[in-house]
Amino acid sequence: MLCHGPIVALGPYWDYDGPVARFRMYPTREQEEQMLLHCAHARYVWNLAVEQHSHWRKGHKAAPGFAEQCRQLTEARREHEWLGAGNQTVQVQALKDFAQAKNAKFTSGFGEPTWRKRHRHEGFRIIGDDRVPEFSDDGSPRVNVKTGKQVMGRKATVQKLNKRWAQVRVPGCGWVRFRLSAKGKGAALPDAKTFRITFKNGQWHAAFAVIPDPTPAPGTGEVIGIDRGVTITAAISDGRKLNCPQATTRERAQIRKHQRRAARAPRNSPAKTAEYAKVAKLKAREANRRKDWCEKTSTMLARTYDLIRFEKLRIRNMTAKAKPKPDPDLPGQYLKNSRAAKAGLNRAILAQGWGLLRQRTEHKAPGRVEDVPAPYTSLRCSPCGWIDKNSRKSQAEFVCTNCGFTCNADANAANNIAAGQDADIPRPRRTAGAGGTTTH
Ligand SMILES: [Zn+2]
Repeated sequence: MLCHGPIVALGPYWDYDGPVARFRMYPTREQEEQMLLHCAHARYVWNLAVEQHSHWRKGHKAAPGFAEQCRQLTEARREHEWLGAGNQTVQVQALKDFAQAKNAKFTSGFGEPTWRKRHRHEGFRIIGDDRVPEFSDDGSPRVNVKTGKQVMGRKATVQKLNKRWAQVRVPGCGWVRFRLSAKGKGAALPDAKTFRITFKNGQWHAAFAVIPDPTPAPGTGEVIGIDRGVTITAAISDGRKLNCPQATTRERAQIRKHQRRAARAPRNSPAKTAEYAKVAKLKAREANRRKDWCEKTSTMLARTYDLIRFEKLRIRNMTAKAKPKPDPDLPGQYLKNSRAAKAGLNRAILAQGWGLLRQRTEHKAPGRVEDVPAPYTSLRCSPCGWIDKNSRKSQAEFVCTNCGFTCNADANAANNIAAGQDADIPRPRRTAGAGGTTTH
């Protein structure tokens, strides 16, 4: 069985709260049914919030905030029996989720929160029901200024059953079991205020928001630039190339085979379900491999370098669908827009887990990660600063048309990123050094 140990990892759609410890959950059939219902309620409430905010236009009264939405939710619960029968915590937390996604729209890389779809974005957030006294940073108990009483905080209720199993209380489901790992951070019970339950590829996971201890900087003053690409996942300015593991050719063939069989199976047949489950299992395996790679690489980066510079990417824009291209001669007809090609690239981009690598590095090296705007990093000569599209001979080769500097194109881009935004780059001089080869 794959991945029942906790992976400290993130899914891009869900985690606006920061780092999490993720554990595989093993609910009973009844618990699973209840949890799927929670998912449906959370999605419904989230989508209502998306709709409300999508109607907002410039110059109009502000779209309702979290407090106002909570008040509206109470009303909606009274009016709609289906919603009212659901768990209130789950529904309120969905609104909280939306508010956080909205706040993080400029930093998360995913922009405005969008619709959540059935089967694709299944999950909900729970706030712990245990009450624990809160303490200040210096260890003294936190006291309410007005009343003089001890401030009580929330805590997720978890219990250790034995060495490898623990359980967590989920509203309406009682205790749900989850698996601990044999050693490391995942062997300890998570200590968190809130947690998120997700259902993807046939597996349930609980992700507890925990703050990892930051990895200490090596103190060497070394700065590294990272260029993320499709052919090479991460080219580092010291010349190393790191590649994120992908599904093997065999695995991809298997996925296609089971998708084909599922498509041909009769509707609602057990065979169809079984084939889709096989697809899901293969995809989960690939995703876990990718997450594992991101964890290891980000730890390596945080340990080895003092300052880590990533090129600024708009992953969301880069993975958007290709726009339809209307035919100017035939109204109502469309020209080819290379949508299939773009879709392939999109998959490749997402498969690389770019966003995840950046995010996890930031968690492990807080304050030591920088984003450098991307334009021209791939066309600019790193020693002389000359920008010319002819310098990029091919996907892999870079030869400066000004100074003749030859380098791997990705390594050259990584060097530019390492130099940072306001790097002191010498101005290009047309006459000097043309034709010569400098080695760096
Ligand atoms: Zn040059």
